[in-house]
Amino acid sequence: MKTKKVSVKDLLESGECNKEVEISGWVRTKRGNKQVNFIALNDGSTINNIQVVVETENFSEEVLKKITTGAAIHVQGLLVESSGSGQAREIQAKVLDVLGEADPDKYPIQPKKHSLEFLREVAHLRFRTNVFGAVFRIRHAMAFAIHQYFNEHGFYYLHTPLITASDCEGAGEMFRVTTLDPKNPPLTENGEVDYKQDFFGRATNLTVSGQLEGELGAMALGKIYTFGPTFRAENSNTTRHLSEFWMIEPEMAFYDLNDNMDLAEDFLKYLIKYALEHCMDDLKFLSARLQEEEKTKKAEERSMELIEKLNFVLTHDFERLSYTEAIEILKNSKQNKSGKFQYPVTGWGVDLQSEHERYLVEKHFKKPVILTGYPKEIKAFYMKQNPDGKTVAAMDVLFPQIGEIIGGSQREEDYEKLVNRMREVGIPVESMSYYLDTRRYGSAVHSGFGLGFERLLLFVTGMGNIRDVIPFPRTPKNAEF
Ligand code: ATP
Ligand code: MN
Repeated sequence: MKTKKVSVKDLLESGECNKEVEISGWVRTKRGNKQVNFIALNDGSTINNIQVVVETENFSEEVLKKITTGAAIHVQGLLVESSGSGQAREIQAKVLDVLGEADPDKYPIQPKKHSLEFLREVAHLRFRTNVFGAVFRIRHAMAFAIHQYFNEHGFYYLHTPLITASDCEGAGEMFRVTTLDPKNPPLTENGEVDYKQDFFGRATNLTVSGQLEGELGAMALGKIYTFGPTFRAENSNTTRHLSEFWMIEPEMAFYDLNDNMDLAEDFLKYLIKYALEHCMDDLKFLSARLQEEEKTKKAEERSMELIEKLNFVLTHDFERLSYTEAIEILKNSKQNKSGKFQYPVTGWGVDLQSEHERYLVEKHFKKPVILTGYPKEIKAFYMKQNPDGKTVAAMDVLFPQIGEIIGGSQREEDYEKLVNRMREVGIPVESMSYYLDTRRYGSAVHSGFGLGFERLLLFVTGMGNIRDVIPFPRTPKNAEF
């Protein structure tokens, strides 16, 4: 009988039994006795392993000795219903080939609990653990769901550039892109680096956001989104900041702030629902792991079980309120009065720290919050100015455990107001002429937001450190793998 090459997932999910199968994968564990060995085999297709039953008398000791944790093997055998508990079916091995050995004295990933910190040091191998397998399968599922959501809702995927000459958004926080010789750059008469002689004939950087270009697309295609890497050279060594992260930025013509909030809420709920419908095995594993960790905490510090938390967000309306209202709540909170905030809330105008955002979400409202109407001084120049002259039509979505997950706004569509604001904050209007053309010709109400992909993943996976939801994290002083 001709056998077909399939994945562990296929084997575990297919109803068929008593047939010849072939499978390749990596050994997770091997246990047993003189007569029979049980190999837990994983090929990455699912968190679940398939059990391979090996009658030792049928194989040479030479081969069996090489079947250790981490080794790649190929198995041919009979898929049968399992008599043991813990698995529905297993493979009775007929042929075993060791494709690649993993010396147990040297291979770092052994079948025991490794700390996430240790696994960051062997980030190139951490994919082979259950935790990271689960995280990166979920990462894939979320990326797919994002494209699916936008495709279903009439958005076009627009690729905005990674190399940009505009530096108005993240002055001082950008990575320079240059081919000039760092030891001997050409200088201008004033002794400054002469970027006219650089590759692009001007100073260029890695983008901090695709928004400005996204707006240009939206003002013709109607609804667009970007989904790509962004770069920030800010020295934020937190569990929520990366120097290279992925951002999803929808931008919509004819959407006002309310439309924007409705979209953000619907989008986030769609993604969470998708995870619950498509990633349950991985979520259950991550949840069990978290529950173990929670046991070490005091009862009042424990957080909601992961799957319960995801369902909770799905079934509750996000609380919408203004920055001004939020400041009142924070100012009068016990936390603030008893000096428990690291950054005390003194009054209107202060920027909110993640501890404040989390207080609103986790302690006060006990659900996600959308804050609007921030002071214009703490927000970007392109946000729609409110009639009060003090606030802008910004909206930040705040989530438990994370704080800000989305930052967005209605954009200023009025040419005069936008130019005046740019002058006020010192943005060279001339170099932004291309951007201003959207306000010169056929301007209209429009809105958009940015969702940090890794922040979404922190929430969905329950992982505590953003370095653990991106395959190869870049953070200050760290770009090893
Ligand atoms: P924060 O105040 O948390 O640093 P921000 O105000 O700088 O965020 P925006 O510029 O509004 O963030 O970016 C949009 C979204 O991108 C944020 O809501 C967040 O989800 C994500 N984000 C921003 N900076 C980072 C970063 N350094 N690493 C990972 N995600 C980020
Ligand atoms: Mn930031």
